[in-house]
Amino acid sequence: MSKRNSKNKKILVAVVVAVLVLALAAGAYWYFFLRKRPEEQTAPPASGASEELSIHFLELGNKYAGDCVYINIGNVDILIDGGSRESSAETIASYVDRYCTDGVLEYVIVTHADRDHIAAFAGNSTYRSLFERYDCQTIIDFPRTNSTTQVYGRYVAARDAEVAAGAVHYTALQCYRETDGAKRSYPLAEGVTMNFLYNYYYDHHASDENNYSVCMYIAQGGYNYLFTGDLEKEGEEFLTVYNDLPRCKLFKAGHHGSKTSSTDALLSVIRPEYVCVCCCAGSPEYTTNADNTFPTREALERIMTYTDKIYVTSQATDVDLKNKKWEVAPLNGTVVIRSDGSAFSVACSASSAPLPESEWFKTNRF
Ligand SMILES: [Zn+2]
Repeated sequence: MSKRNSKNKKILVAVVVAVLVLALAAGAYWYFFLRKRPEEQTAPPASGASEELSIHFLELGNKYAGDCVYINIGNVDILIDGGSRESSAETIASYVDRYCTDGVLEYVIVTHADRDHIAAFAGNSTYRSLFERYDCQTIIDFPRTNSTTQVYGRYVAARDAEVAAGAVHYTALQCYRETDGAKRSYPLAEGVTMNFLYNYYYDHHASDENNYSVCMYIAQGGYNYLFTGDLEKEGEEFLTVYNDLPRCKLFKAGHHGSKTSSTDALLSVIRPEYVCVCCCAGSPEYTTNADNTFPTREALERIMTYTDKIYVTSQATDVDLKNKKWEVAPLNGTVVIRSDGSAFSVACSASSAPLPESEWFKTNRF
């Protein structure tokens, strides 16, 4: 081999090595600086990117405590509980039909077997059950009850007829355990889920029916909205022990604002910013002690260490505590929360002022 050929070969090798080094450097630069990480590629939409969710705490127009919450997001309609009177079925249906135009309730959640949560689902010979009025796709209710009431019997019959007509029925325990096709977390829309919590009394005896309540929260971006039915003090404490509860933008006050619910154990974990109470404020329906009428002085004092943004559906008027007589008027009326996971608003069918600014509060709880 000539000297010249040998020199050319060395130059060629040097060029090839230089090209290889450059290619490697470019590859490394792309890998470390330009490539999209897998977590970036699958990142959920930023907070505020969700569809609008609305939560409606219905004023049912009668003078009794009773829960009914309607939730809408896109084509998904959810109803939690059905008020305290069979006649509420009319009020609830005429309200829900403004939003739900296809007659389908994707989810019906019934928290426990007390009249003030099941009446409109039970129906009677005068008022058709909500189960008859809607195509209810998935019904999720309480795993246990001690109830033997007639209204509970009618509830079971109406629910089972809906199941025979094609509805799927799970208990909240089946959801939590994900057995028989039930899910712990149901997607409602992009970035929005409905999540069933573990309540100790799903599979343990409770002397108080309220403690059997179905508990769940809806997560939307960084916001969480918690519903615990009429869960009492013991149940709330277990709820904090057995679940990794998130901070909650909104909490439906437990048991209509009873002094035995919305306890510090729960509130200190969820630290609510907004609280809605379904009740007839100051009514002597259950007590003649004015401080213990819903929402009770004790529960309000605890809640107000976290927030003043408290909304109440109805209020009692012309109250005769001793004889347990009263009439009803709206307080905030139907309370509607709207959020896309970032913006958040409250609108009320009556006064939009939070409870502490109301005449009722100044007169009865100040
Ligand atoms: Zn109740």
